[in-house]
Amino acid sequence: MWITRTLNPALACKLAKVLNRFGGPLSTPGSCSLFASRSASSFQHACTLDSDRSDEDNADINWDDLGFGLVPTDYMYVMKCSRDDTFSYGELNRYGNIELSPSSGVLNYGQALFEGLKAYRKGDGCGFLLFRPEENARRMQMGAKRMCMPSPSVDLFVNAVKQTVLANKRWVPPQGKGSLYLRPLLMGSGPVLGLAPAPEYMFLVYASPVGTYFKEGLAPIHLVIEDEIHRATPGGTGGVKTITNYAPVLKAQVQAKAKGFTDVLFLDSTQKRYLEEASSCNLFIIKDNVISTPLTRGTILAGITRKSIMEIARDYGYQVEERLVSVEDLIDADEVFCTGTAVVVAPVGSITYQGKRYAYKTGVETVSQQLYNALTAIQMGLVEDKKGWTVEID
Ligand SMILES: *Cc1c(COP(=O)(O)O)cnc(C)c1O
Repeated sequence: MWITRTLNPALACKLAKVLNRFGGPLSTPGSCSLFASRSASSFQHACTLDSDRSDEDNADINWDDLGFGLVPTDYMYVMKCSRDDTFSYGELNRYGNIELSPSSGVLNYGQALFEGLKAYRKGDGCGFLLFRPEENARRMQMGAKRMCMPSPSVDLFVNAVKQTVLANKRWVPPQGKGSLYLRPLLMGSGPVLGLAPAPEYMFLVYASPVGTYFKEGLAPIHLVIEDEIHRATPGGTGGVKTITNYAPVLKAQVQAKAKGFTDVLFLDSTQKRYLEEASSCNLFIIKDNVISTPLTRGTILAGITRKSIMEIARDYGYQVEERLVSVEDLIDADEVFCTGTAVVVAPVGSITYQGKRYAYKTGVETVSQQLYNALTAIQMGLVEDKKGWTVEID
């Protein structure tokens, strides 16, 4: 690919596409090799979609205005299987409504999981990067066991995500403007009346371009500790990404937002003393040179960002501890931050507990800023990925 090395990257990418259309020297089947799907028909389908789209420029939206609202894209990936079967192949469909039985497991009993991951446009203009997608696949498999559902293999999951990115590539924001958020769903789609696992399951991946998660952008967020409503209980499902963990916390979130807070922090439901996490992200505190995050113990969603940040922090020489983190520890901390795919690393400016507000160090000199820079540099392909965390799509 001499062309990508000698020309301005974005131009090279465009030129390669033009040559490709005329069956020029670059018309290798490279762009199709990714679609090494289980079936020939979905292989062809995917390739046709790809070339249909290859001459299109970026979607016509204002990339500077991206937040975390849904921007519908062109295609979604859909795969189905019955209860006693395994997922084997799926296909790309136009993005749109899906048909479900009114008595489907997901609508009646909440039998479903979601995942969330991002694709970044690479700096050289061609190709995209996913961050540890196999981890999302494995987490979905663990959650599926808890929720009595079959789940796609790691390969099928990652392949579905890749196909969804490629089919929607005009929606991947330019570098520095955001990412394409991928939302895999696994649900009991078949009909049930009496409580039981659904007879049929649907795996679906859709995509939306996103910018920052909180309206604060990269500015510090303000949290309030909730001591009435709990997110998770021992023996419950707090440790898996089931959809049933989220509607029950809306009330706490709505109340907190009405009072001007960004989000809620939940406490353990038995002692109401130890911090768990926010409604969709994990929590870290820093005191002196020690970075601590609550032990997961089945009531906290073990974030992939959490795990990655712990590893990066250790590489930087910090002492990192997974332990019980009490409200007192939190009050006493120097710095606090939240992690998650959507929020990345969000600095916490203040936490309010029983009417009292506690402030924390924020700004460019903080550890959280250092960790944010290190993580996003890997995710966006700005530094060499020595850990093998990123997966390239091109
Ligand atoms: C998804 C999620 C997280 C963050 O997980 P990542 O893998 O880092 O995106 C944390 N807490 C909850 C409750 C979540 O749903």
